[in-house]
Amino acid sequence: MHVLGRPMAAGMTFAARPIGGFTDHIVNNERNAMTKFKLEYIWLDGYKPVPNLRGKTQIKEFESFPTLEQLPLWGFDGSSTQQAEGHSSDCVLKPVAIYPDPVRTNGALVMCEVMMPDGVTPHSTNTRATILDDEGAWFGFEQEYFFYKDGRPLGFPEHGYPAPQGPYYTGVGYKNVGDIARDIVEEHLDICLEAGINHEGINAEVAKGQWEFQIFGKGSKRAADEIWMARYLLERVCEKYGVDVEYHCKPLGDTDWNGSGMHCNFSTKYMREVGGKEYFEALMAQFGKNWKEHIDVYGPDNDKRLTGKHETAPWNKFSYGVADRGASIRVPHSFVNNGYKGYLEDRRPNSQGDPYAIASRVLQTIAEVPLPASAAA
Ligand code: ADP
Ligand code: MN
Ligand code: MN
Ligand code: MN
Repeated sequence: MHVLGRPMAAGMTFAARPIGGFTDHIVNNERNAMTKFKLEYIWLDGYKPVPNLRGKTQIKEFESFPTLEQLPLWGFDGSSTQQAEGHSSDCVLKPVAIYPDPVRTNGALVMCEVMMPDGVTPHSTNTRATILDDEGAWFGFEQEYFFYKDGRPLGFPEHGYPAPQGPYYTGVGYKNVGDIARDIVEEHLDICLEAGINHEGINAEVAKGQWEFQIFGKGSKRAADEIWMARYLLERVCEKYGVDVEYHCKPLGDTDWNGSGMHCNFSTKYMREVGGKEYFEALMAQFGKNWKEHIDVYGPDNDKRLTGKHETAPWNKFSYGVADRGASIRVPHSFVNNGYKGYLEDRRPNSQGDPYAIASRVLQTIAEVPLPASAAA
C-alpha cells in the first residue's frame, strides 16, 4: 500500500516525525488500536461564475491513515451552496483524492466531487467529472494571485499607489515584498509539500502583493486536484494573518498593474513521444477554431486581462508563437528543437479559472484532432 508515495506496511501507522517544522501527530502507538481521524471533506459549491471552496469535518476511526477506498460517501445541504435542484436539497460528496493534513492532529484533506443523491450521477456543477481519463496527460498550472488586506493589495498604502511595478517580480527586501507575505508564502509551501502536493516552485510576481506557485501533475486530473487543494490551504493559512487571497484576474482594473493568470502547460503521451510539425499545426488549427469555447472556461473577466498588454494576447484573437509571451499559446524553444515534441503553454487561463474545466476543455480539443494515419496503425 502507498499513501502519497510513502510505502506503508499493513497495520502500520505514521509515527510522530518532524518534517519541515511539522509533525504528523498520529497518536497511536498500539498495533490495531483505532485512531480517530479528522476528515476534512472539501468540495466546490455552485456559485457562478466562480465556485467557492467549502469544507466540513467528520471524525472516523481507522487503524492507520485511511486510503481513498476506505472513505465513505457523505452529504451536505445543497440549498446553502447553490447546488439544490428541485425539492431534494441533499447532495452527495464522493472522495476522489486524500492528502495528510500537516497542521491538524490526525487530519486528512479529502477532495470530493459533488454527486446527485443517487451517489453516481455527477451534479451539474461537477466539472471534474467532465475531464477525460488519460494517465498520459500531464498538466502544469502557474497560479498567480494577490494578497489583499483592508480592500487593497497587501503593501499598498491607504491612498494612492506604491512605487510602480518593476522591482517586485522575484524581488527581495522589505520595500519590495513587505513583512508578512513571505511568511505566508513559505508556510503555505511547507504545508503543501508535507501534504504531498507537487509544487514545482514559487515566486514573487510583477505587481506588489502578487505571487505565484506552480503545480505539476501526471494524469489528467492530478494537477487540477492539487491546485484546488493548494488554493484551499492558502486561504486557510491566510486566516490567522488577517489577509485574504484575491484571485480576480485584474483586481486593479485598467491600470498599469499586472493582472493574474493561471498559465496551463500541457502535454499528452503522443505530443511528448511522437509529435511532429504536421500534428502540431493541426492541433493549433483546432485550438484556433475552438477559441471561444476555451475562453468561456478560462475564468471570468478575461477580456480585462487579455488586452494585448502586460505579456498577453487579445482574448478574442487566437495566436501561437515560439517563445512568444505575447501569444495565446507559447511554444517553448525546446518543443521546436526536439522535432515539435513536448509541452505547450496556453497563457490564456486566468487566476480565477477552474483548473478542472480548463483541463477538460484542453483535452477535449486535443481529442478532436485525429492522429496522423501512421500513428493509428
Ligand atoms: P514560465 O513562468 O516561464 O511560463 P514556469 O516555470 O512558471 O514557466 O512554469 C512552467 C510549467 O510547465 C511548470 O508548471 C512545469 O511543471 C510545466 N511543465 C514542464 N514540462 C511539462 C510537460 N511535459 N507537460 C506539461 N507541463 C509541463
Ligand atoms: Mn511562471
Ligand atoms: Mn507568472
Ligand atoms: Mn507561464
